[in-house]
Amino acid sequence: MEHAAIHKRPKRAPVLTNYESECAAFSWAKARAQLAGLPGGRGLNIAHEALDRHLETPTADKIALRCLPKSGPPIDLTYRALAHYSARFANLLGRLGVAPGERVFALAGRIPALYGAALGALRHRAVFCPMFSAFGPEPVQQRLALGDGRVLVTTPALYQRKVLPIRARLPGLRHVLLTGCVPGNALPPDTLDLDALLAAEKSEHEIAPTRPDDPALLHFTSGTTGAPKGALHVHEAVVAHVATARYALDLQADDVFWCTADPGWVTGTSYGIVAPLALGVTSIIDEAEFEPRRWYELLERERVSVWYTAPTAVRMLIKAGSALARERRLPALRFIASVGEPLNAEAVRWGLEAFDLPIHDNWWQTETGGIMIANYAALPIKPGSMGKPLPGIEAAIVRREGERVQVVAPGDEGELALRPGWPSMFRAYLNEDARYQKCFVDGWYLSGDLARKDADGTFWFVGRADDVIKTSGHLVGPFEVESALMSHPAVLEAGVIGKPDPIAGAVIKAFVALKPGFERSDALARELLGFARTRLGPAVAPKEIAFTDALPKTRSGKVLRRLLKARELGLPEGDLSTLEPEK
Ligand code: ATP
Ligand code: MG
Repeated sequence: MEHAAIHKRPKRAPVLTNYESECAAFSWAKARAQLAGLPGGRGLNIAHEALDRHLETPTADKIALRCLPKSGPPIDLTYRALAHYSARFANLLGRLGVAPGERVFALAGRIPALYGAALGALRHRAVFCPMFSAFGPEPVQQRLALGDGRVLVTTPALYQRKVLPIRARLPGLRHVLLTGCVPGNALPPDTLDLDALLAAEKSEHEIAPTRPDDPALLHFTSGTTGAPKGALHVHEAVVAHVATARYALDLQADDVFWCTADPGWVTGTSYGIVAPLALGVTSIIDEAEFEPRRWYELLERERVSVWYTAPTAVRMLIKAGSALARERRLPALRFIASVGEPLNAEAVRWGLEAFDLPIHDNWWQTETGGIMIANYAALPIKPGSMGKPLPGIEAAIVRREGERVQVVAPGDEGELALRPGWPSMFRAYLNEDARYQKCFVDGWYLSGDLARKDADGTFWFVGRADDVIKTSGHLVGPFEVESALMSHPAVLEAGVIGKPDPIAGAVIKAFVALKPGFERSDALARELLGFARTRLGPAVAPKEIAFTDALPKTRSGKVLRRLLKARELGLPEGDLSTLEPEK
């Protein structure tokens, strides 16, 4: 079901004005030529693009990161200060004997040291791997072991709780660097005081020649469909980070940008660190967790102009009511985007109600390293769609037929595939070469997501291949059913699974969380079933509804349908290392 397109005039001239002509004129070689490159043709290094290239320009003294700690005043880091911090960190890695290509992990909240360490590791040509600070000891151990972590940057408190219990199982972890140690307190055995060591290092550091395909970043996937995979990215990914941030986020040098994702997920690195710095933008880094009132205050006080967030946050803001947003004056805010899960048409339109701005959905994955399909500032939005491929990205809907891949007709469902060759494409699944190879068939990268492309070239998400339900001969994507339920005024969020059934193959069951002010009742359940039937038809509508307070989600905010299903069927729950604690 299609909703009316939204065409809101951008508040300023967007980077991308004419989609077709930009796509026709685009080449990755031209995008690469817009970056500086290491002086003397010595290659391409993310840290040089993010920091050093700005040092001879007025951007050097501009605020790169405005870090808002959980308590206390903001900490502003200029481009120059961040360059110096990262230089010290790189010098320290050299002194510790860390070789290029070795892995530097971080387990820290969104504090300045995390960003400095990331950029320092990239300068040194080590591979940086950020972990979400809320992970428990097991997920931390799993990732450090899989990634063969040589160095870990963390805080004394996180070390005690999460690393100490598993340290003995990590013989390859040679250096643990603690930031924020209290002077006078003894350091735990086998750890080093990062801040003290950095103070002794020089703030000059020359980046050694870096090949564009030297490894740079390691990111674990969200673990929505199974155990997280380690996706390896290279330095030339920065070409895609920059180009896509300009096109899909409309990011321009004088913006104040807030990417709400934690660097523990790829969004928080590609668009929370690399792209905004390479574009000379000021980023807001918020250490604290989500809280609607505080988020709105932040948008107002910091005069955020471009805001990149996720559907789960949007849903929580919807729950808190648009009046809270309306209390704020947000004249600077001009562009809102979302990624991570399908953004329902209702959520896109809610943006208009709360901010006078629609929310622009875009699609990508840890594996793609950057945004692949997006709604753009200059184009009308078809609410509920993911938009159109970025310039330089060839996307198609395909069907696998053995070793061959067939592009399907417009309007038909199939797997979303991309033509390999964009710079931020992952280059390996760590220690899983066969799995990596299996993603590439007949000249395409197969994403594992199902989608449709309409006649006008707009892409619509259907569901993950793993979540699709076969019921009475129909293939049903959960998103369609969930979206229909969410257009009922009582429904805040919904998660849909297939329950094995001897006759239908599977019947559709929906788990539903209600908005404040609505009570669970059999009558409401019946009403929702009827409502869904009218919208979707009897074949696709759920047959069962269960109310729940909240849906189980990953820490990056994705509905864990496999967990809903495992629980429903009494099956093993599988890898839950990324499960957000349930309230
Ligand atoms: P895992 O691969 O470990 O199961 P994951 O796929 O959730 O976890 P990520 O790489 O963080 O890990 O997420 C990418 C996936 O998120 C996409 O493949 C897609 O299923 C979903 N996704 C991201 N953006 C969108 C979007 N705009 N609309 C619909 N789905 C999206
Ligand atoms: Mg995935």
